[in-house]
Amino acid sequence: MLGQGACSRYDFNMKTTPTMAIAREIKKIAESISSTLIAIRRDLHQHPEIGFQEHRTCRKITEQLKRIGLNAIRSPVAKTGVVGLLKGGQKGNNTVALRADIDALPIEEVNPIIPYKSLNAGVMHACGHDGHVAMVLGAAMILKYLQARIPGTVKFLFQPGEEGYGGAGSMIRDGALRNPQVDAIFGLHVSVDQNYGVLGISPGPIMAAADRFQARIIGHGGHGAHPELCTDPLLAANHIYQGFQSIERNLNGRDARIISICSLHGGTAFNIIPDTAELLGTVRTLNAKVQATILRRMRQVVRGVEIMHGVRCEFRYFKEYPVTSNNAAMATLAREAAADLQMPVRPMIGSMGAEDFSMYQKLVPGVFINLGIRKNSRQPGLHNNRFTFDDRVLAIGAAFMTRCALLYLEKSSPPKK
Ligand SMILES: [Zn+2]
Ligand SMILES: [Zn+2]
Repeated sequence: MLGQGACSRYDFNMKTTPTMAIAREIKKIAESISSTLIAIRRDLHQHPEIGFQEHRTCRKITEQLKRIGLNAIRSPVAKTGVVGLLKGGQKGNNTVALRADIDALPIEEVNPIIPYKSLNAGVMHACGHDGHVAMVLGAAMILKYLQARIPGTVKFLFQPGEEGYGGAGSMIRDGALRNPQVDAIFGLHVSVDQNYGVLGISPGPIMAAADRFQARIIGHGGHGAHPELCTDPLLAANHIYQGFQSIERNLNGRDARIISICSLHGGTAFNIIPDTAELLGTVRTLNAKVQATILRRMRQVVRGVEIMHGVRCEFRYFKEYPVTSNNAAMATLAREAAADLQMPVRPMIGSMGAEDFSMYQKLVPGVFINLGIRKNSRQPGLHNNRFTFDDRVLAIGAAFMTRCALLYLEKSSPPKK
């Protein structure tokens, strides 16, 4: 790992400002630990684990944090997560959190070229979370070097189960944001929408709220030759399908929304009208008003179809993930951190996908940032079984997360007398 005092050899030009000096120091340390971060990422990549089964990952993160020498480590948190704490040597009451998600996906890796291919059949780090872990561990290493100069406390959140398990909620319920209370939070995700090394940073809503719905239609089955004796749930399901899609006509064209019916089931044979049918789907929105309009219209469509067909419909609607919406001041701060490090910034390319980082943002001012890994247009995207990236980007992410944490604490600590 890191040798003691490895940074003392760097001499700085006397004309540089303190900001330039610290930015340069962060970058140099990040470069010096790059090969360590790559080794950590590749080890995690070879041993991927899906949500809430990240036992080895949790152990490896804990080992690394112990080696770095943090002030406190809680492991496990939320079943397979880890929280680390680093107390700075300067006066400052605030605590800033850096979050990494740690889980992999149930995908069989087919990458033919990499020597560190997944050893766990049917499981793959295809969303870059192995890289996120390495970046936040890297930030912990750099911040440990700078500990005496940190005006406050840094918390490192290693969160399990991001891929549809709502692991952020589990971390919050297990007290990850308390003791000490987190005042601000940064999260980062690698992205093939941005060019390699480019940061995507924007204020406001950047990823959608993800809701789930279920409509079970109860009719009365019978012979396919005698629909007049039945109450056909399949025809009713058909009208609900069309009715839900028609809600699009009630919404302003500038309001982003998706209504997708992704499952439609009913019936067992060609000549039997079944008793029931079921639709499952998802609604994605960027603001609460549009979300409320869609839900209200869905209920009206269901009620209308009940009356029209004489069926009964059990309709259930679940609000799963809130909108990922970046605090404007935090987004500005992240842009400043990038500028200090002379890293290129573009607006973040938003998505109607969802992120459980939004659950932290409900409680704490936070910003979620993309870090570009695109080197060519044919590069496989996230969740693809050939997904991979040039992991020299890990040092860039570690340096950026470090500067974000430091800058937040510098700006929120009491002014020096
Ligand atoms: Zn993912
Ligand atoms: Zn992801």
